[in-house]
Amino acid sequence: MATLRLLGTAAYPRIGETVHLLLETDEGCLLVDAGTAVPATLEELGHSPGDVTDLFCTHSHADHLLGVPNVLLGRFFARIGAIRATPPTQPLTIRGSQDTVSDLRALMDIVTPGLEDVLSEEDKVRETDVGDTFSVGDVTVEVAPAEHTVPTQGLVFDGGRRIVYTADTTAMPALRDHVETCDVVIHEAMYADDGAELAADLGHGTAREAGVFAAATDADELWLVHVADRYEDPQRLRRQAEAEFDGRIVVPDRFDALSL
Ligand SMILES: [Zn+2]
Ligand SMILES: [Zn+2]
Repeated sequence: MATLRLLGTAAYPRIGETVHLLLETDEGCLLVDAGTAVPATLEELGHSPGDVTDLFCTHSHADHLLGVPNVLLGRFFARIGAIRATPPTQPLTIRGSQDTVSDLRALMDIVTPGLEDVLSEEDKVRETDVGDTFSVGDVTVEVAPAEHTVPTQGLVFDGGRRIVYTADTTAMPALRDHVETCDVVIHEAMYADDGAELAADLGHGTAREAGVFAAATDADELWLVHVADRYEDPQRLRRQAEAEFDGRIVVPDRFDALSL
C-alpha cells in the first residue's frame, strides 16, 4: 500500500521543517520538494537519498527547493562511497516545470559542480506541463495548475484514493476545474482572514479559501499546511476553514501520513 507522508509542514524553517512530502510505494519513493534538513529527515524514517526514485520540484522558492542539492549530493556521495548512506539502487527522475528545472540547474551550478555532474548516466530530468502524468509504483501522479508569484505546479495522487496537494497557490478556479473531485485535499493555508490581502499580494491562500476548495471538490478531508509563522495557534485557521467545509479538518504534524 502507498503512503503519502508530510516531512515538514511549515512555511519558514524556524521551529520546524518546511512543507515537503514523501510518497512511499512498494516500487519507489517520490519526494515532493525538499527541506534543508532532508537527509536527516529521511534517515529518521529509515530512508536515504538513494531510496528516492522520483523527485518533483513544485517551484523555485527557498522553502521548497533549497534542500534539493542535499538530496542530489547525498545520492552522488553514497554512489562514490563518501558517506555511509545506502547507494542508489534505482535511477532518479527529476521533474518540474521548464522554469523550475532551469532554476534548479542554476542553483546546482552555484552550490555544486552542476546538475549533470552529480547525476548518474541513468538519471533523467523531465520538464512537466499541467496534465502530464507519471507513475510511482501503483500510484498515478498528475501535474496540476497553481497560481503563485513564480511558475508553480501542484500534484494529484491517485492510488485508489485521490489526494490533491496544491503546492503554493492563491485561490484558483482553474485548479478546482482541473481536479473536479477528490478524497483528500492538502492545501496551503498561509494566512487566516486577517491576512487575506497579504495572501493575494504574495500569491498564497487562506484557510477559508482552502475550505471553499475542499467543499467544491467534494473532499472528505482537508489538511492545512504552510501556515505562516505568525500564527501561534493554527486552530484559528481550522475554525475559518470549518465555516466553509463540513468534512474532517487536520492541521498535521510532521510525519503525519495518508494512505492511498
Ligand atoms: Zn512559494
Ligand atoms: Zn512555500
